[in-house]
Amino acid sequence: MKVPFVDLGAQYTTIKTEIDKAVFEVINKTAFVGGEYPEKFEKEFASILGVKHCIGCANGTDAIYITLKAMGIGPGDEVITVANSFIATSEAISATGAKVVFVDCLHNTYNIDPEDIIRKISSKTKAIIPVHLYGQPAEMEKVMQIARDNNLLVLEDCAQSHLARYKEQFSGTFGNAATFSFYPGKNLGAYGDAGAIITNDDELADKIRRLSNHGRSAKYDHIIEGFNSRLDGIQAAVLSVKLKHLSSWSEARRTAAAKYSELLSGIKEVITPFVHPYAEPVYHLYVIRVPKREELISFLKENGIAAGIHYPIALPNLSAYSYLNHKRSDFPNASAFQDQYLSLPMFPEIKDDQINYVVEKIREFFSR
Ligand SMILES: *Cc1c(COP(=O)(O)O)cnc(C)c1O
Repeated sequence: MKVPFVDLGAQYTTIKTEIDKAVFEVINKTAFVGGEYPEKFEKEFASILGVKHCIGCANGTDAIYITLKAMGIGPGDEVITVANSFIATSEAISATGAKVVFVDCLHNTYNIDPEDIIRKISSKTKAIIPVHLYGQPAEMEKVMQIARDNNLLVLEDCAQSHLARYKEQFSGTFGNAATFSFYPGKNLGAYGDAGAIITNDDELADKIRRLSNHGRSAKYDHIIEGFNSRLDGIQAAVLSVKLKHLSSWSEARRTAAAKYSELLSGIKEVITPFVHPYAEPVYHLYVIRVPKREELISFLKENGIAAGIHYPIALPNLSAYSYLNHKRSDFPNASAFQDQYLSLPMFPEIKDDQINYVVEKIREFFSR
């Protein structure tokens, strides 16, 4: 049996008619950049999340960068984020000229540790970027309390957490703004690069929209210099089609995760994902922790199973951040877990017998 890590082809098969129609409609109308399709998607996405504004942009990394710029963050400022994330989060901070300040992750959800945020706040701190990693909501009540106490802005990185909930509230609706990636492999994936920013702040929304479209107020009236980071028509049309299926895909991911966790609970070497009773995760990734990870990955590969690692090197331990002179012991959880994380195949269309097979092979490996 073959179990791919994700299967975008399987998903396309289920929505081919709708997607093909939508894409050709955009082409027939030559509505390539701006116009009705991005506007329609922005409205739909904002409405599902219950926020006032959604601004499409070119990708999830730009979304973070543009939002930080619109928040007025730049050289001399510090922005706090979590050691356990994809580099896009910290890259976007550095791109503004601000300093990245890393915080360790929690031992259970692997998300940002609120206690460590408190230790890392300085007089230069302007904002916190919690990441809802793997689609698992971060401790937003605590993060928001810390932000209020210290007068800090909060930007939620929701690149992996479309429609995840924390106490019934969607991730992305706690902070001052939130950013999304619609990279093809994300839970809501375009057929190319795409991203978006959501906020309830009118002034921030205006600034974000202007910055992402050459600083213009009207076609050739540029109030400031901005950049070109827009959601295009074809991607927006694809996203509108896929958005209608997102809740049921999220539900399918939760069902698959529950099945994995139940079956894996009998294998003592495996630590399955922790879920707060008040969290409704969306399992962008299903991440376990295991000993002898590299050997297990090879064994799974020999048996036709594709597993991944998210992420093999915690951000502060990357060469890119050697200039910060961190020691691995500065981030005890993130540094220890980077050698243990293992992401199992996870996508809404995954079949029960595929999950059974993956777990059977893991059991076989540990009982050898
Ligand atoms: C994917 C991702 C991003 C960046 O999104 P792109 O659309 O690829 O630029 C940012 N943060 C996290 C946590 C991500 O997983």
